[in-house]
Amino acid sequence: MEKKEKTGISRREFLKLAGTGAAVVASVALVQPVAAEALSPEPAQPKPAPANLPAKWDLEADVVVLGAGAVGLVAAARAAKAGASVLVLDANYDIGGHAIISGGNVPLGGGTSFQKKYGIADDPETLFKDLTDWSVVEVSGMPEYRYNDRGVQRALADNEAKTFEFLLECGAPFQDKAPDNSGGHAVGISAKREHHCVWTKGQSSESPAAAGGTALMRAVEDAARKLGVKFLLNYHMNTIYRERVSDGRVVGVEATYTPTILPGSLSPLKSFRADGNIDLDVKQVFVRAKKAVVIGTGGSTGNVNFRRMFDPRLTEEMPLAGGEYSPQDASGELAAMAIGATLWGTANQTFDRNGALRKRPIIGTRTNYVGWTKTSPIFPKVKATGLNVRSWQDAIIVNQVGKRFYNEMEDGYPNGTTEGFLKPYVQGDWRNAQKVQYKPMNYPDAALAMNEGSTAPDFGAGPQWAIFDAAAVDREKWVINETSVHPEYFFSAPTLAELAAKISACPYQKVAMSAANLEATVAAYNKAVDAGADEEFGKPKPQFKLDKGPFYAAWATITVHDTYAGLRINMACQVMDMDGAVIPGLYCGGESAAGCSQHGLARCLTQGYIAGNAAAKESAV
Ligand SMILES: Cc1cc2nc3c(=O)[nH]c(=O)nc-3n(C[C@H](O)[C@H](O)[C@H](O)COP(=O)(O)OP(=O)(O)OC[C@H]3O[C@@H](n4cnc5c(N)ncnc54)[C@H](O)[C@@H]3O)c2cc1C
Repeated sequence: MEKKEKTGISRREFLKLAGTGAAVVASVALVQPVAAEALSPEPAQPKPAPANLPAKWDLEADVVVLGAGAVGLVAAARAAKAGASVLVLDANYDIGGHAIISGGNVPLGGGTSFQKKYGIADDPETLFKDLTDWSVVEVSGMPEYRYNDRGVQRALADNEAKTFEFLLECGAPFQDKAPDNSGGHAVGISAKREHHCVWTKGQSSESPAAAGGTALMRAVEDAARKLGVKFLLNYHMNTIYRERVSDGRVVGVEATYTPTILPGSLSPLKSFRADGNIDLDVKQVFVRAKKAVVIGTGGSTGNVNFRRMFDPRLTEEMPLAGGEYSPQDASGELAAMAIGATLWGTANQTFDRNGALRKRPIIGTRTNYVGWTKTSPIFPKVKATGLNVRSWQDAIIVNQVGKRFYNEMEDGYPNGTTEGFLKPYVQGDWRNAQKVQYKPMNYPDAALAMNEGSTAPDFGAGPQWAIFDAAAVDREKWVINETSVHPEYFFSAPTLAELAAKISACPYQKVAMSAANLEATVAAYNKAVDAGADEEFGKPKPQFKLDKGPFYAAWATITVHDTYAGLRINMACQVMDMDGAVIPGLYCGGESAAGCSQHGLARCLTQGYIAGNAAAKESAV
């Protein structure tokens, strides 16, 4: 048996890892008094280590990237390309973050080669003016770009097209077709900017959600690994160190082992690719960053207390979209704030924007935002595929006390400003807002406001439940079994009273559901069906009574989507403190960064590109 040293990396493993970095100038080094010939020359140890720093470093690299998602993988590939040794540390068992389960719709503008090829006029100036156009107001009333940080937007506008070309260089398989506006939110209206990656091979260990984001992320991952980037997976970063407690340059991080072990299994999940993975068997690891640390930890929306700083209604019952694959637990923000970083642009974190809170058509399981199937490696975490609702004529939705509160046919959000509802759009014209056909997104707000029966201290609204009968199951052709629904979030009973009793046992119910309420709600709805009009909530021509038992209740609670406010950064993605001073050696991008009221991949990939470039250019300490 090969001898393992204190850190758990065997000498042979380390030599193998060190030898794979084809284009790497300096490799990631193991900093231990072991296998001396394998180490990079004389790795520096802090002598003597100040009290706030670890006594020893286990690993070191020029650039340490936290998170292997949209920001992290691009930052890593970019920094490695520029000659830095790069270590990517991720809490998950595999790379990708939300980006690998995303739709792969990438709204990059400013004059990409695809925009040029298909005759779409765009340039950085147009993009900058779009992304800072205070006059644009969503149909929900949210002014998308009004609270954007101008510097952050300028940097995005100047770097989006370059990022697109870099992604192509990495092998990202964008569909060779004209960019469009499909799938984008808050990406500006003057030009079509959405580029698309697709995935056709289904869910597997390569692609946990069979989404276009897999094609994009696996390509960038490949490029990064070929450039010699090393990956330390299953380690959750908790602490970032500066030379002195909250002063001086950032010098490294601490992380703890967090394997993903599924229910019914004894061994942790393994990443799809392993070349370049560092395989440690220690519980805690200290990693030194010779040049910089890049935070790409994906935001804070999965941290209930953190998200409630922005919106106190967002109590625990609301799951995070994509949280089953990687939670956005605010750990990047918290670690940076502990060493002096500040939040910024918090007005952008309003959940009144289109798409920030979402009603999903999948019911009967708590976390199924994505449409997971049994072939996904994380299916045991998701627990059930859920039932896909084709028509909300087949069900009503009630709050935790058993009362309807809305027209179930309302699906929530029109698609931002990219659908061209502002016609004609005149950049910067104050009259733009007067052209908006306002359609406030009341479904989620109604759901959150209906906190009847909720209790101190949080007064959370509790779950929402889709209620239907056996006839609806037939019409929808739902197959109800242990794969499609989960017993904690799906109930059936011969009577409504018994159904209410079962719902009451759900741990997210703040109070018991009253049988009398549920019976009265269904009776009133059946009367509305007879009358052909829903006077109470305006559902258009309610069609089907709920009168054929058994009756069913399926989890139908709205989902919280992504994060729009985080750490203050400058144009180079350097993290800043409360006084506006740069924290040397610390970078951030994507959902953990502030100043950008834009959904998704474009800002994350671009800030990864900016941060990776800049981090590689720092001088090593
Ligand atoms: C289902 C879904 C579909 C989407 N579709 C689209 C789309 O089509 N187009 C679009 O533009 N956007 C889309 N988005 C949004 C987009 O995917 C995200 O905005 C983007 O991936 C965020 O990038 P990020 O790098 O900030 O975070 P992520 O991509 O989520 O990466 C964060 C990484 O950090 C890791 N991490 C977190 N904390 C720690 C820690 N303490 N230590 C170590 N590692 C840590 C996580 O495990 C994760 O790998 C979608 C999102 C979802 C959920």
